[in-house]
Amino acid sequence: MNGLMQEQPLLISSLLTHAERHHGDQQIVSRRVEGDLHRYSFRELAERARRVANAMAALGVGFGERVGTLAWNGYRHMELYYGVSGSGAVLHTLNPRLHPDQLLWIAEHAEDKVLCFDLSFLPLVEAVAPRARGIKAFVALTDRAHMPAASSIPGLLCYEELLEAASPDFDWPVFDEHHASSLCYTSGTTGHPKGALYSHRSTVLHTFAAALPDSLNCSARDTILPVVPMFHVNAWGLPYIACMVGAKLVFPGPFLEGRSLHELFESEGVTVSAGVPTVWQGLLAHVEANNLAFGTMRRTIIGGSACPPAMMRAFQERYDVQVLHAWGMTEISPLGTACTLKPRQLALPAEERYAVQAKQGRAVFGVDMKIVDEDGKALPWDGKTSGDLLVRGPWVIASYFKGEGGDPLADGWFPTGDVSTIDADGFMQITDRAKDVIKSGGEWIGSIDLENIAMAHPAVAMAACIAAHHPKWDERPLLVVVRKPGATLTREEMLAFFDGKIARWWTPDDVVFVDAIPLGATGKMQKNKLRDQFTDYRLP
Ligand code: ADP
Repeated sequence: MNGLMQEQPLLISSLLTHAERHHGDQQIVSRRVEGDLHRYSFRELAERARRVANAMAALGVGFGERVGTLAWNGYRHMELYYGVSGSGAVLHTLNPRLHPDQLLWIAEHAEDKVLCFDLSFLPLVEAVAPRARGIKAFVALTDRAHMPAASSIPGLLCYEELLEAASPDFDWPVFDEHHASSLCYTSGTTGHPKGALYSHRSTVLHTFAAALPDSLNCSARDTILPVVPMFHVNAWGLPYIACMVGAKLVFPGPFLEGRSLHELFESEGVTVSAGVPTVWQGLLAHVEANNLAFGTMRRTIIGGSACPPAMMRAFQERYDVQVLHAWGMTEISPLGTACTLKPRQLALPAEERYAVQAKQGRAVFGVDMKIVDEDGKALPWDGKTSGDLLVRGPWVIASYFKGEGGDPLADGWFPTGDVSTIDADGFMQITDRAKDVIKSGGEWIGSIDLENIAMAHPAVAMAACIAAHHPKWDERPLLVVVRKPGATLTREEMLAFFDGKIARWWTPDDVVFVDAIPLGATGKMQKNKLRDQFTDYRLP
């Protein structure tokens, strides 16, 4: 016997309609590419999103067809999020930090019909446009006054003109909730990038789960500033969460350096922010150098790579900003785990509490996880045994776009490519990405642990630990370090810093100092590049 409840598809447009009706006056503040601060309400967002829907239809974008964006975090990007997906087309967020050839490959693979871009990316789009034959229209996300005087892009359109010409009346269509809503490619460190194609259902369910108090903990009383880009897994879902809960949104545009961010945090009363560890380094350095504080910031969500405990301490002890460590992937929409402590853990002594916080956390409802050995046998949750991490759930991919790479699942589970432990409380801790693991004499050494220790040294700005070839042990850890500006640090001092913090045999065999560690398109250290660079490195 079925229940007797209404059948209502879970659609992204309903998030916007809700925000307009119940939080119409709530604000969205954006630092624009043009340099100024723009401010409007959810009511205006909704009206302009309806104009976007009409404008895209006028450009010939059909149901299920893709609209590409190359844009920073800002209100126009938000309008596209809702206007494109809400009307039944698919929003494809492209990562502007990729190489033009790779961007072109992705846009063609996705069969983007329209490409909307911020003016900062004009040179990039001009480089790609002559070869992007599938794209029928290029739209600059600006007004007439700021349109480029001359551009090699034929028939370049102006976003504000399109919106002005479009009607603000549009009835959001009702369709199957499994219909595709947005598309995001993984960075593809090996081979071609692969697309994760989200659905309306997966997105709305993810939004419910991600907003919960023990997940990202967002409410109508929050002011959220997502530093994580809207082109990186939908800014971890925050643009959807803000509409669901009615939180004020603050978008930093292209201005991501410490000073700009701190100014916005203070002037707009930001309470929650989110980003990868590398962006917080710049912010903390600025705040420290200028003896500043955080007036309203209460929490920061850190994920994308492991948050070094030294960073957690700095935020919490010096600035009274709680760090929420979270783990996810493009393939899982992205939220998988969040490290919110249980009551018993809150009562632990500080050191033990930090040890828990360094973990990536427990599964949010909807995500099932397990760790397995090489034969696929489930491993115990003892906090010590590590194995390949697998997940499943309604916002985990079943297949890549166009079936690229074949069936990604193993028995219905998605292998994440991460190696982790899970403790008796269900807290998962990533020890490594499978491809970054260091295998010394057949035993694994977790590179993240070593990096976290190195990062706690006051003279270290960034540290990466990679496997270097060793004649006896096969691989041994090599630590690559960027010193803080003006700081002095020797190899011996660095190595001595590991004493007593780890098993002796985990201590890196050598330290090399470099000016910079290569960062990928999403701000993560590219250890594969470092491995290439140090492929012939001879350990002492
Ligand atoms: P990619 O970096 O492959 O483009 P994602 O942004 O989807 O794609 O990255 C997902 C990966 O990032 C995870 O598989 C994991 O290795 C890493 N990651 C994400 N969050 C964390 C975290 N909190 N700690 C450690 N690693 C993380």
